Amino acid sequence: MYRTHTCGELRPTHIGQRVSLAGWVDSYRDHKGVLFVDLRDRYGKTQVVFSPENGESIMAVAKMIRPEDVVAVTGLVVRRPEGTENPKLQTGDIEVRVEEVRVLNKSLTPPFHPSAKDLPGEEVRLKYRYIDLRRPEMQQTLILRHRMVKIMRDYFDELGFIEIETPILAKSTPEGARDYLVPSRIQPGSFYALPQSPQLFKQILMVAGFDRYVQIARCFRDEDLRADRQPEFTQLDLEMSFVQAEDVMQVIDGLIARLAKDLLGLELSLPLPRLTYDEAMERFGHDAPDLRFGMELVDISELASATENEVFRQTVARGGRVRGVTAPGAAAVLTRKTLEELSEYVVHDFGVKGLSWIKVESDGQLVGPVGKYFDGDFRAKLLEVMQAGAGDIMFFVADRKEAAGKALYGLRRRLGAELKLYDPSRMHFSWVVEFPMFEFDEAEGRWTAMHHPFTSPRPQDIPLLDTDPGACRAQAYDLVINGYEAGGGTIRIHDQALQQKVFQILGIDQAAARERFGFLLEALQYGAPPHGGIALGVDRLVMLFAGRDNIRDCIAFPKTQRAVDLMTGAPSPVDPKQLRELGIRLL
Ligand code: ASP
Repeated sequence: MYRTHTCGELRPTHIGQRVSLAGWVDSYRDHKGVLFVDLRDRYGKTQVVFSPENGESIMAVAKMIRPEDVVAVTGLVVRRPEGTENPKLQTGDIEVRVEEVRVLNKSLTPPFHPSAKDLPGEEVRLKYRYIDLRRPEMQQTLILRHRMVKIMRDYFDELGFIEIETPILAKSTPEGARDYLVPSRIQPGSFYALPQSPQLFKQILMVAGFDRYVQIARCFRDEDLRADRQPEFTQLDLEMSFVQAEDVMQVIDGLIARLAKDLLGLELSLPLPRLTYDEAMERFGHDAPDLRFGMELVDISELASATENEVFRQTVARGGRVRGVTAPGAAAVLTRKTLEELSEYVVHDFGVKGLSWIKVESDGQLVGPVGKYFDGDFRAKLLEVMQAGAGDIMFFVADRKEAAGKALYGLRRRLGAELKLYDPSRMHFSWVVEFPMFEFDEAEGRWTAMHHPFTSPRPQDIPLLDTDPGACRAQAYDLVINGYEAGGGTIRIHDQALQQKVFQILGIDQAAARERFGFLLEALQYGAPPHGGIALGVDRLVMLFAGRDNIRDCIAFPKTQRAVDLMTGAPSPVDPKQLRELGIRLL
């Protein structure tokens, strides 16, 4: 027997018992010939004590023990001497006096210590992932992930959802990212695509009459990775028949409330707030706004173009806007140098021409590059619309409406954190609804689907498909948490003629549609119920619920920004023989 208890289990009630523990050597201290070792496992740490009183043979073994060795001990549970208790450990009132010890396995000197305060760079952590995963906070995050997924499964089971697995070796799906391809050996020259999502299969499951489908699904997208993206990721994927947008959102409202309660002890009031896309863009310049703080965008085009400022006047004359935000209390915090950096940031990251600012002095005077344009009557009006007062800084961007919005969104996000306008441990959940159906791709000169091509327009907007596709709104909804898009879904088109029309606008001709999604189009003709669904990003949800800022910390074996697994070395070259079998020759 290796152990009678775990390293997190012993309490004063165990005093006097003879126990066995097994685990990793977290640390050791030699105190006047007595050796104190913290033994660690997933459940906690326990102090075990090697003392010459218990025999020289024990001491001989004890002296060879090093960090990360795997050790089993047997001994007596005793109360720690008064004054040496460790309130930080759950086992901190007791220690185990070792009577027998076995080194089960020696460890090489580890590249870093799981308990060290200073961690090495992330590359080292990823290469030695098994050491990194020994760290209690990494284990806590993965345990939280396990609990989250379990709550999801229980919740959907209670609501009558059925979990159904869909293929990994699949055909290209319509999310619009680049596919990962898998060559077929048996059909040389043909490829499977790893699914970007189970989208088509779940719609077909509705045609098949399953009514309520759910899956914890792995998805693959070959995109250039951003900080919170991974080439493979996990989605909570679901689909429902005979529903409208509100029904799907209600189901997710219930899930989020359950997760918040069970994982964080938070009582949410439902329904979660809903914001239209237009409102989100108007008030925050973005479709996934962080609603933990105010600092809403204000349009001052009218006022600004009445001043003598040429840039403002011309921008508005050309159909652009002057938009602004007020950063409360920023005057005392932001130095001139920071203001210059902020200006560089919006110009560089958001491609606008510039950022103007005006500081409100304690006597109400306006100071800053464009302050002088707002004197007399203008000053009072500006302060009123911007809701600005002494100590605040107002920022302005004059550009096309969306460009100005995006830049101010970036600025707002940054200043919100820098000026500590919210409590970072607070969570805020909301919905953004009624997205546009289409986005115009300037580079390619054509419409693309904002969500995916199976998304249904709002019934009242169907006539707009012929006259003004850009104005057409979708039955689409995104779940937003703390400024992150945590998931999104739509009501689907279940009518063949409407689907054809949407394909037409997207420039997908009949042959291409048949080639890519023919099986779905065919299925839709054999009695498809009205249906809709959603997918939430599980990795991202874990990140937000665990209060972490790195998605890689929420995945056991993640990949780097360059899509490499540093531990296994994937991807890697393969044997020429394997390529020959696949009929592949490398360029
Ligand atoms: N398949 C979509 C996605 O992965 C989600 C959905 O529409 O249900 O983004």
